[in-house]
Amino acid sequence: MTTIEHSTLEVAVLANGQALSVPVYRIRGESDGPSVYIQANMHGAEVQGNAVIYQLLEQFKSLHCLGNITLVPLANPIGSNQKSGEFTLGRFDPITGENWNRGYHFNKSLPIEFAADNKQLTNEEIKQKFRQAIIDDLEKNKLNNPYGAKTSQLLCAQLQRMAFDADIVLDLHTGPISSRHLYCPEYAKDRATLFDIPHVLFIPSDFDGAMDEATFCPWWQLQQAYQAQGRDIDVMVEAFTLELGSQEWLSLAAASEDSDSVLSYLQARGVIKGEVFNPRQMTRYGCMLEHYRALYAPQSGLVEYLAPFGEILEEGQPLVQMLHMERYVDDDCVTQVNAPQRCIPVLHFASASVNRGTELYKVMTNFFTL
Ligand SMILES: [Zn+2]
Repeated sequence: MTTIEHSTLEVAVLANGQALSVPVYRIRGESDGPSVYIQANMHGAEVQGNAVIYQLLEQFKSLHCLGNITLVPLANPIGSNQKSGEFTLGRFDPITGENWNRGYHFNKSLPIEFAADNKQLTNEEIKQKFRQAIIDDLEKNKLNNPYGAKTSQLLCAQLQRMAFDADIVLDLHTGPISSRHLYCPEYAKDRATLFDIPHVLFIPSDFDGAMDEATFCPWWQLQQAYQAQGRDIDVMVEAFTLELGSQEWLSLAAASEDSDSVLSYLQARGVIKGEVFNPRQMTRYGCMLEHYRALYAPQSGLVEYLAPFGEILEEGQPLVQMLHMERYVDDDCVTQVNAPQRCIPVLHFASASVNRGTELYKVMTNFFTL
């Protein structure tokens, strides 16, 4: 029986002095398997990952965990409590307007300097010393910066500090109204088929502030810096963002499927013992991030979303039909927006009322089968 330790970590303080904390669940590995960090709900309305963490913990109780595992549900207590009417907001810091998942830290000069200064180290020494270097850099620049840091940066830095101890990081999100999809770094593309996720977006080593990028960019760019010296090392850490359905939606049954999916990946990576979990047989489609396209409303109006997720839509087939209330008696009071090219719809906007320029759908183009 696995022992699960439960603690809390203070990540923010309100103006009235009230502390906000996140729950932290830890499992000590039985041997030296890869260590794992999993968090959920960084965006306030994206609650399904919390249910997946619940199901994972239920499963871990009776599994042999070989590496240390840290799980943090409800990772953003500020965003989770930000409600307006029936709905949870919590995608953007209400004070700065910044996306909560863009506040992570990355120092792009660090991998280059480290590789230049540490040519003689063994791979194992590189892993240990570079991990310490990125932790020190995070503490110096964010957690202990004499100028302070923004609320979102401090929240992110405390989560990132836990993630930096791990070899594998999974950040659990959802789309607005969405199918399951996975953001997978290009270097780890053979891992994509270990998850039961039908849509995979392959991302480059660019840093845009998100947790997955903040985790793999230092290690990926370190690998590239050594490669430039003529030395081949592996990218020693991997991170994925899992988009597990729609916001404001919770399903323990779906979470159980996603827990099995995560476990088949963790088992293949040597984190848990046994051969219990296997990826499902399913058609998985992938595309490069540059071919994952947003389609914006050409006119304002009310929207009926027509295109189902996960099915190939040919050029010219309808994505939505729109109702324009200002011209009810005219011929063009109902219009269609059609697919500009062959694509697979992955998610759509959550509201039926849109302005011109609202992101209606996101679709995979130039896709391929994995
Ligand atoms: Zn999100």
